[in-house]
Amino acid sequence: MTFAATILTLYPEMFPGPLGQSIAGRALDEGRWSLETLQIRDFATDKHHTVDDTPAGGGAGMVMKADVLGAAVDAALEKQPGAPVLAMSPRGAPLTQERVRSLSSGPGVTVLCGRFEGFDERIFEGRPVEPVSIGDYVLSGGEIGALALLDACIRLLPGVMGAASSGDEESFEAGLLEYPHYTRPQIWEGRRIPEVLRSGDHAKIAAWRKAQAEIATRSRRPDLWERYSGAPDQSPSGAQREKSKDE
Ligand code: SAH
Repeated sequence: MTFAATILTLYPEMFPGPLGQSIAGRALDEGRWSLETLQIRDFATDKHHTVDDTPAGGGAGMVMKADVLGAAVDAALEKQPGAPVLAMSPRGAPLTQERVRSLSSGPGVTVLCGRFEGFDERIFEGRPVEPVSIGDYVLSGGEIGALALLDACIRLLPGVMGAASSGDEESFEAGLLEYPHYTRPQIWEGRRIPEVLRSGDHAKIAAWRKAQAEIATRSRRPDLWERYSGAPDQSPSGAQREKSKDE
């Protein structure tokens, strides 16, 4: 089955962009996912193809018009009625790996990319459009967010990463950040790869990695840690805040 991505944007030439390279590019060539862009401006009905107007109530910037957005979303829904429609917005719920995984197991996704000050709010009432954020910072447009969302989905599609790396052990999959990685040389600028990783003792290595994942999560992402451990400062596998003796 092909994962079908439809992008509604004022800048269709930004796609596939970086998704034409590497893993995603190969998968696109192999037909594991497909891409269609719709130019939002094509759905404006006036002579000047106006897509934005000044904000009601005053203030800086321009707002994308609900009538134009509605027509663009309708066209996407007609092409792909089964795909969820996500609108890129810093006001949306943050995208999670869990959501990405569920999207990637579906028929595809339609992504609405904002520009200027964003969308007329009524689009979220008038159409089945869900606002989604890629993080707590403001981009100049939704296109880079859409590329990030698609990249995250595409790498999880069957056959894209290969069977060996299903992504099961990666950051967020178990509610933790991933453990740290090392590779040769054994000593770099006087720093050694942790000895436990050379022990060949798989149980010991697994335990060390688990503890390291917990240490990183607790110090860098207290929000994830709290959800994972059920308490602000408690270690399910006995991870210590200080470095482990094998490090
Ligand atoms: N005035 C808006 C920001 C508009 S930025 C606000 O303060 O909420 C212009 C467009 O960039 C948005 O419509 C959205 O499509 C995109 N964008 C900006 N930041 C984003 C983010 N964190 N996640 C997803 N999309 C974002």
